[in-house]
Amino acid sequence: MSKYDYLIVGSGLFGSIFAHEMNKNEKKCLVIEKRSHVGGNVFTENIENINVHKYGAHIFHTNNKEVWDYIQQFAEFNRYTNSPIAIYKDELYNLPFNMNTFHQMWGIKTPEEAKKIIKAQKEEANIKNPKNLEEQAISLVGKDIYEKLIKGYTEKQWGKKCSELPSFIIKRLPVRFTYDNNYFNDLYQGIPIGGYTKIIEKLLNGIEIKLNTDFFDDKENWKNIADKIVYTGMIDQYYDYCFGELEYRSLEFKHETKNVENYQGNAVVNYNESEIPYTRIIEHKHFENIDSCKTIITKEYPIKWEKGYEAYYPINDEKNLKIFEKYQKLGNKEENMIFGGRLALYKYYDMWEVIEESLKAVKSEMNNFKNNEK
Ligand code: FAD
Ligand code: UDP
Repeated sequence: MSKYDYLIVGSGLFGSIFAHEMNKNEKKCLVIEKRSHVGGNVFTENIENINVHKYGAHIFHTNNKEVWDYIQQFAEFNRYTNSPIAIYKDELYNLPFNMNTFHQMWGIKTPEEAKKIIKAQKEEANIKNPKNLEEQAISLVGKDIYEKLIKGYTEKQWGKKCSELPSFIIKRLPVRFTYDNNYFNDLYQGIPIGGYTKIIEKLLNGIEIKLNTDFFDDKENWKNIADKIVYTGMIDQYYDYCFGELEYRSLEFKHETKNVENYQGNAVVNYNESEIPYTRIIEHKHFENIDSCKTIITKEYPIKWEKGYEAYYPINDEKNLKIFEKYQKLGNKEENMIFGGRLALYKYYDMWEVIEESLKAVKSEMNNFKNNEK
């Protein structure tokens, strides 16, 4: 008999929700986490009364009412609306691409004028069916916006040329012909008051957790400790890179405390020119309107991923997806393994998608138990 029903590798949103729901269903769970804290990339730390998003700005947004209702059980959310500012040299623009941006770029006022300029720039570039991010971007917003607000940012973010990147990355951003600076189209949006770590702590309340514990340091032991393993780490690492390494993008976060009340006047300011090595500066207090005489900012530097670095973004181009499919085939054959989350499924998931997927995995497991009882 195994000691646990489930060993959960990773205490991010996927693992924590899975553990919480299974614990509620009286299944014995053990969570192991290689970092010194729970929460994965949504981890926030309270410093100087400010909840600092230690792994980059996390703004919760979803259209899925079930997911929204689910997460509200663990925190109250404020009505924060993400409206980043983009700085290119000495020019300042609103994001996402909307009538404010078009006015700032071209001095025009009406949607008709904006559409006309974009159409002309798209025709000049002679793009019919966009095949990569560069062509997709020019088709959506024209050459000027592509060159000032997309090219530099994207190439430093991904470490690849826009012409070599898949177009879906840029389709994440809304393009609007209204004066609306809301970065997301979703119905529900906000920041959990008190930070994300509180949500994770509530989810993991009463569950055994081992921090600073890497699955790969004692793989054979961990494989035999539970009936099933929920694995949320890198899938290529799980299979010892047998089909080759998947590519990821890593990041370096540089946090600074400033002795000023308000450093940049907005939570998110993007730096879009290629000459500046970071992509954005986050000023955390603005996520929750914190009143204090100091402020904490974080500069986000994209860096090349190498073994031993944190893998933040999967690079979902064709070459990598082909390798991933091979790993996925192996994974599908394993009866006692559940692969979940951004790294094991190698997907550019937002938080709501990870929650949805984790709840689906719980449902499927509970159905298996019911069917076995029949
Ligand atoms: P993770 O949070 O990565 O958790 C996996 C956990 O597993 C980690 O704690 C890791 O340490 C642990 N682990 C891995 N391997 C091992 C091992 N071998 N042994 C033990 N433990 C292991 N989403 C949004 O909805 N809105 C946003 O604004 C947003 N902003 C983002 C900004 C950045 C910079 C990044 C990188 C992501 C952002 N996301 C955002 C996405 C969001 O972070 C993810 O969707 C979500 O956190 C993924 O949860 P997860 O459980 O799949 O993975
Ligand atoms: N992007 C850009 N300019 C910006 C902001 C975003 O070109 O000012 C592009 C970039 O390629 C980025 C993608 O749009 O990777 C998606 O942006 P998002 O803000 O969703 O990225 P994330 O928060 O996931 O890093």
